[in-house]
Amino acid sequence: MVRACERSGRLKEDVRLVSVTKEVGIPEAEELLALGMKELGENRVQELVSKYASIGSRATWHLIGHLQTNKVKDAVRIASLIHSVDSERLAKEIDKEAKKLGKVQDILIEVNVSGEQSKFGISPEEVAGLIKCIVLYPNISIKGLMTMAPEVDDQEEARPYFKALWELRDKISGPWPLAPGPLLLSMGMSNDFEVAIEEGANIVRVGRALFHNSGPRTLAP
Ligand SMILES: *Cc1c(COP(=O)(O)O)cnc(C)c1O
Repeated sequence: MVRACERSGRLKEDVRLVSVTKEVGIPEAEELLALGMKELGENRVQELVSKYASIGSRATWHLIGHLQTNKVKDAVRIASLIHSVDSERLAKEIDKEAKKLGKVQDILIEVNVSGEQSKFGISPEEVAGLIKCIVLYPNISIKGLMTMAPEVDDQEEARPYFKALWELRDKISGPWPLAPGPLLLSMGMSNDFEVAIEEGANIVRVGRALFHNSGPRTLAP
């Protein structure tokens, strides 16, 4: 991460690491905490609930995976940032549950930049409209955009998707910004976090690379 920041002239303080613990247990999550990595990400609410039950607020929790409306209550109770908001219906439910807890829930809008059928998220064209709806909910605060690039062999092939999210943010943050404050970009995983950082990621979500030797990098040093 530091090298990618250096290559692209960015400050390392401007890129946060969310350590994705979905494929490991509580002991490994505890190890991360001991190393000072306090931001943990889960993609399923059930797993978020069970890890939270033993780790609690010693970690800052991120829900990075798809969220169903019937699981919103637990997600809002635990997550400091929900990365996967992709409908008004879901936002409405989050607002309702957040209100009950007296909380303003930070969220990201998940964007399906690649247009793959298998991916969640809304299309880039729909983002501005969704933000216009969500800014009216008092118990939600829109913090940025999230995307997942397609799985590719060479991370260079993921670059255009990250660039596209950056450009989308530019477009909706123009002279009349739709949401207050600078919007963060959550993009980049084990296989492509380096190019994501080069293309402006503020949050990378990395799991496997923390726990396995994921083999040689495809990017030139
Ligand atoms: C699993 C997951 C990650 C992390 O993926 P790795 O390849 O293990 O780094 C990041 N984001 C989302 C949404 C995920 O589901």
